[in-house]
Amino acid sequence: MSPQPVFLYDTTLRDGTQGEGFQLSVLDKLRIVERLDAFGIDIIEGGWPGSNPKDVEFFREAKKLQLKHAKLAAFGSTRRAAVAVEDDAQVRLLLESETPVVTVFGKSWEMQVTKVLRTTVKENLAMIRDTVAHLVKHGREVVYDAEHFFDGYKDAAEHALATLEAAVQGGASWLVLCDTNGGTLPSEVMQICKAVKTRLPAMPLGIHTHNDCELAVANAIAAVSAGATQIQGTINGYGERTGNCNLISIIPILQLKMGLHVVPHLEKLHDLSYFVDDVSNNTHYARAPFVGRSAFAHKGGMHVNAVRKLARSYEHLEPASVGNQQHILVSELSGEANILSKAEELGLALAKGSPAASAILKRVKQLENEGYSFEAAGGSLELLIRRELGDHKKPFDLTEYHTSFRQYRDGHPAVCEATVKLVVDGTPELTVAEGRGVVNALDRALRKALMPFYPEIVGVSLVDYKVRIIDGHDATAAKTRVLVVSTDGQAHWGTVGVSENIIEASWQALVDGIDLFLQRRKGSPARSA
Ligand SMILES: [Zn+2]
Repeated sequence: MSPQPVFLYDTTLRDGTQGEGFQLSVLDKLRIVERLDAFGIDIIEGGWPGSNPKDVEFFREAKKLQLKHAKLAAFGSTRRAAVAVEDDAQVRLLLESETPVVTVFGKSWEMQVTKVLRTTVKENLAMIRDTVAHLVKHGREVVYDAEHFFDGYKDAAEHALATLEAAVQGGASWLVLCDTNGGTLPSEVMQICKAVKTRLPAMPLGIHTHNDCELAVANAIAAVSAGATQIQGTINGYGERTGNCNLISIIPILQLKMGLHVVPHLEKLHDLSYFVDDVSNNTHYARAPFVGRSAFAHKGGMHVNAVRKLARSYEHLEPASVGNQQHILVSELSGEANILSKAEELGLALAKGSPAASAILKRVKQLENEGYSFEAAGGSLELLIRRELGDHKKPFDLTEYHTSFRQYRDGHPAVCEATVKLVVDGTPELTVAEGRGVVNALDRALRKALMPFYPEIVGVSLVDYKVRIIDGHDATAAKTRVLVVSTDGQAHWGTVGVSENIIEASWQALVDGIDLFLQRRKGSPARSA
């Protein structure tokens, strides 16, 4: 049997924004639409115009977009009970969105019809049929989302099937079975999808799953195995409660493991995932399958040894196929093999058993003893290796820095100030800057001081700053470890500083962040670390 095509339906902009901590402005949404279109998503659900005015504005603006591949969808519910569909304001807003596709959801679960909607089964069926027919009459392709379908089917199968038949009678193009509460198991999804396929063999089926049992992706795969050809999900799995089916995970599974061609450039997956995190101002999840920083990270000495010989020995797929890369983590477990791999990853020549290799290893172990950790600070490790190999030009010499924090009692906002005095190639520079906090002020003063010599650092910014207290058992001698993540808009790199003083630890991490950028600018292209 030749594989049937599977269509991707993205609901990041609607179901995704139901999730805690995931908000998008109209502009954010428009940027994401363009990105999803370029990536090859088939249908993009833009929002629910009946539920919020921001979505009405979005659809007004979205009409101006020139999408190459994707079709936009507006989302809404069936008409209200006992109201003619022509008179339903919410349905009218769906048509006014002027999208080629309209997705309407209706009730499949008898109990929901009688107890929540408080209407009759007969009226509910009419609501589904009328709404779909009305939208079809106005030239829309209608996707019918059967809310609570699996729960409804398990409770009263005939009723659930009758609601689908009502959508078919109305002229729906798709029947999408929804695991709205996220409690269904893959075996049940498979069995119920097959039953629907048997009853309505000609109708294309879709699947909409939630991740409450960490099964959203598995359930969607089960549905595809049972004949579903549309998958609804969100980028990075954002969504209500524990989220939706994660398209970033399911796309490579469909394409690389099941042989279903769904997108033209899978290697752009990693960037798409980061893009949506960045636009929504969320931190990237390091352990995200396929695209996370840790997805192809190797730590134990023996694993590293094996991976160097044959990547397939501990990797289920080629990291580059999803736009990711292998990372060799350096830790207390590290042996020489880890250092060699890291150098190789960085394109730096380091021979096995060489004095340089053992000097680097010795230095790493010594620093780890002092509280440094290089797992999330590949940038600082790279600097260490470069210094040891003589591939490092010190960008400046620090003369001194000074920070102050003034808190007022009369309501005047607190003032943080930093002064940095440094020398670049014999030229001294003294700068002062204010900031939202002491570290922010220090960061600004440092950049300001370096800008005349290295104008290219203007594109480098700080994206994450984390502080951890180590040696907690002896509070007076406790050390602080600061981890900083910097970016130039493309690559991200982590750097670390350790000191008994939080400001000094921050300074070290900040300096490493800029230093690394400048070292890389000398030749090799930027890459994440
Ligand atoms: Zn949902």
